[in-house]
Amino acid sequence: MALSDLSTADLAQLESQLFSEFDALAATGLSLDLTRGKPSPEQLDLSERLLSLPGEGDHMAGGTDVRNYGGGAGLPELRSIFAELLGVDVDRVIAQDNASLSIMYDLLTFAMLFGTPDSLRPWKDEPQLRWLCPVPGYDRHFGITEALGIEMVPVPLGPTGPDMDEVERLVAEDPSIKGMWCVPIFSNPTGAVYDDHTVSRLARMATAAPDFRVIWDNAYVVHTLTNDFPKVPDVDTIAAEAGYPNRFLQVCSTSKITFAGAGVSFLSSSRANLDWYLGHTGIRSIGPNKVNQLAHARFFGDADGVRSHMLRHRESVAPKFEAADAALTRRLGGYGVASWMMPEGGYFIDLEVVDGTATETVRLAKELGVALTPAGSAYPYGNDPDDRHIRLAPTLPPLVEVEAAMDVVGLCVLLAACRAAG
Ligand code: PMP
Repeated sequence: MALSDLSTADLAQLESQLFSEFDALAATGLSLDLTRGKPSPEQLDLSERLLSLPGEGDHMAGGTDVRNYGGGAGLPELRSIFAELLGVDVDRVIAQDNASLSIMYDLLTFAMLFGTPDSLRPWKDEPQLRWLCPVPGYDRHFGITEALGIEMVPVPLGPTGPDMDEVERLVAEDPSIKGMWCVPIFSNPTGAVYDDHTVSRLARMATAAPDFRVIWDNAYVVHTLTNDFPKVPDVDTIAAEAGYPNRFLQVCSTSKITFAGAGVSFLSSSRANLDWYLGHTGIRSIGPNKVNQLAHARFFGDADGVRSHMLRHRESVAPKFEAADAALTRRLGGYGVASWMMPEGGYFIDLEVVDGTATETVRLAKELGVALTPAGSAYPYGNDPDDRHIRLAPTLPPLVEVEAAMDVVGLCVLLAACRAAG
């Protein structure tokens, strides 16, 4: 029965029963962590062979000796694999070092210091800078815009993308809005996948800022939890047809494909944007780590090699998502106090609880030894105005711990909801 339909006496009885369970669990001394979307040791083991690649004597790729300086755009062998996965020409993809987050930081920093190819002046010289942030979204994106002093404007994110009426209205009238964060496939944290209509509107919309940019973070482009891989829209072509060839800056990386922190990142965009980016990175580095790029090219072989590798990840990850869903359903089903979408890929579940209870739920879980991402972290400035969203990351712990942790989460959601209702 829904919590809201319980009589005062029944509510009090449920609360006291939950408290007994809470106390019993507290006595077991749990120590579980669902805070960050990291691959598990089992997933990392899938790429163990990479540690011996490219191997002694294997250092030539085409005519390039990967042991030496140079090759700022990265190795064509590896770029062609990711070009196929992203559905773009190889000359529109460059391979960089270990973190797409660094590319994103560079993109915004270069725009601040020097302006983009379409800017009238460096962004730092603009009187005001704003940036659209679909919410809930990725906290580290928001960290970059906040650190650079760019005012963040939240827009609601639904299951098929951001509220495009709102986006179109804002960008059309406000020239200080210079861009937008997007995670178009299996978004962090809701798992939303932008549909074709949304993509088309983003690519074709008129913007008051001539140098408006979409950072198109395809971090989860091959991270399926089913047997299928998502279709990857060719955003550059759609935007170019509409007269905005430089709008999209697409990034991805192998962080959650091979080794988080020791992978390869990629940037795909128009020629003008890539030349602009490489012009600046060529000053700060004499080339990326091509040894690691060759190791990755040898490890994958081709794009199908990446896909079959990702299906092995899925075998490890999907049962954890299923266990999380089952535990939450067992605890919360029927009470009408929480909802979540089971994603078809990616790394997270966005749990929506009764308004005003997310912070309390996270606090209660901590008391039981279950660490959750702080409530509000999926919002700019850490401010979820409804105190409603909790990001759950089930990949890192072993399956039994995911089950135990999600049971605790469910208990705490219900307890916080009882208290709010009582
Ligand atoms: N983008 C998104 C949406 C992510 O969730 C993550 C990892 N949590 C990253 C980027 C980080 O990627 P990288 O390791 O390539 O910096």
